[in-house]
Amino acid sequence: MKEKIAVYPGTFDPITKGHIDIIQRAVRIFPRLIVAVACNPGKAPLFSVEERVEMILQSLEPLNLGHLEVESFSSLLVEYARKKGANVIIRGLRAVSDFEYEFQMALINRKLDHSVETLFMMPSEPYTYLSSRIVKEIAYYGGNVECLVTPPVAKRLREKFGMGPKTPPRP
Ligand code: ADP
Repeated sequence: MKEKIAVYPGTFDPITKGHIDIIQRAVRIFPRLIVAVACNPGKAPLFSVEERVEMILQSLEPLNLGHLEVESFSSLLVEYARKKGANVIIRGLRAVSDFEYEFQMALINRKLDHSVETLFMMPSEPYTYLSSRIVKEIAYYGGNVECLVTPPVAKRLREKFGMGPKTPPRP
């Protein structure tokens, strides 16, 4: 049987404990997992794609998850998945509010490439309210994000907003 390769794509601006929860669940199922950071200039991310990749690597390193790769991509997701030989796309589902967008994306991706299947995973309950946007908002106002992100990410956020907010966080 062909090796099952899964891609977990996202903006990861920045990676949160919710993302990590999904990654930990996915590595238990798939022999190879690629965390794929979308450049996503349209979303005007707070962190550069290089910073986002670095924060993921720093956050995951202590967890020793093994068969896991982290890289950025800037093409169509299904094209990227095809190039990597991946037949599964992992997405996280937090609440009903995620559903409409995720449903639309999954069906569009299926239309673009029938061989790639989207699989949804739910995080542990405490992370169902957590998003990168919320984390940035709390950090912007000087709040404590230590329980929502890993120490390297908290440090980066302090560096970004530490001298007092200059630019408002983007959605
Ligand atoms: P995107 O711009 O692709 O939505 P995100 O980084 O916001 O990028 O999210 C990537 C994936 O991770 C999405 O499927 C999203 O639903 C999921 N996700 C984000 N935050 C959480 C969380 N707290 N728990 C579970 N899944 C999450």
